[in-house]
Amino acid sequence: ERLVESVADREDQAVEAALRPKDLGEFIGQEKVREQLDLVLRAARARGATADHVLLSGAPGLGKTTLSMIIAAEMGAPIRITSGPAIQHAGDLAAILSSLQEGEVLFLDEIHRMSRPAEEMLYMAMEDFRVDVIVGKGPGATAIPLELPPFTLVGATTRAGLLPPPLRDRFGFTAHMEFYEPGELERVVHRSASLLDVEIDADGAAEIAGRSRGTPRIANRLLRRVRDYAQVKTDGRITKDVAAAALAVYEVDARGLDRLDRAVLEALLKLFGGGPVGLSTLAVAVGEERETVEEVAEPFLVREGLLARTPRGRVATPAAWTHLGLTPPRPQAP
Ligand code: ADP
Repeated sequence: ERLVESVADREDQAVEAALRPKDLGEFIGQEKVREQLDLVLRAARARGATADHVLLSGAPGLGKTTLSMIIAAEMGAPIRITSGPAIQHAGDLAAILSSLQEGEVLFLDEIHRMSRPAEEMLYMAMEDFRVDVIVGKGPGATAIPLELPPFTLVGATTRAGLLPPPLRDRFGFTAHMEFYEPGELERVVHRSASLLDVEIDADGAAEIAGRSRGTPRIANRLLRRVRDYAQVKTDGRITKDVAAAALAVYEVDARGLDRLDRAVLEALLKLFGGGPVGLSTLAVAVGEERETVEEVAEPFLVREGLLARTPRGRVATPAAWTHLGLTPPRPQAP
């Protein structure tokens, strides 16, 4: 099981919930998003209105669910959480929409993965707070209009570009979440450590932050694994050395690469001389699904400048050779 991207186990989910910032003030980093959202919410509150629909885009674990909960809390509204893949039929969406209370926040994670008919129903619901429920089939089918109470849709997606423009345009406010700076992640680690009642020094927090791929969820997860190690092997206090030793056990290296990331790089370098090699070939070489390599390992490797996606295939950069302690082959004469 992968440490950094694996589906959190039950205990992890409970801890994750406990570590969520409860209001904008507690939310670390993302200065611009926080400032803009604060204005949107304050203005809506002052008007006594329901907040505009909000689209949050960004990689997993950057705080989209957390922000949606904060939006509900700041508006004093209840929240309903669902996701695009959970909505198979337009009827599923109609059932959810028609049961919303006035002002309720509907968080729709992975909104780009909703079915087409549901998406079309959502257009009307967002714009006119109305849906047409289709009753019957074939020529006898009739559309029964249904009024909805005003609500705030908070949509989340990994990339805003994945949404069809008509859907994207119906959001009053779009926030793009960036990866976090090391200093911000250190604050996340310190905050979580204190909530978990774990003692950690500045270097220990920096060590964990540096391996967290710019992602608070990963920072929190690594912190919990380092805490386990510290409890069993030392006096429970997390220092730089304890963090480094613990993360070595979990095969998370100094740059935050885990076993799969390194397997991909190693195959690329050792079997294919650094590429170019096709994605499918590379995936077979590491014994993983194409999608896993493409969606789980590659984005981070690309972002770290270790791998490039080219029209001819995947290519390792010089930094990849250095990172794995290998010597690149000598460039061939043209
Ligand atoms: P997403 O919905 O984008 O996948 P989440 O909102 O579930 O991400 O956040 C994952 C974890 O990271 C949560 O446990 C949350 O506590 C933590 N987290 C995310 N953003 C922040 C932040 N800005 N400050 C502190 N903790 C954060």
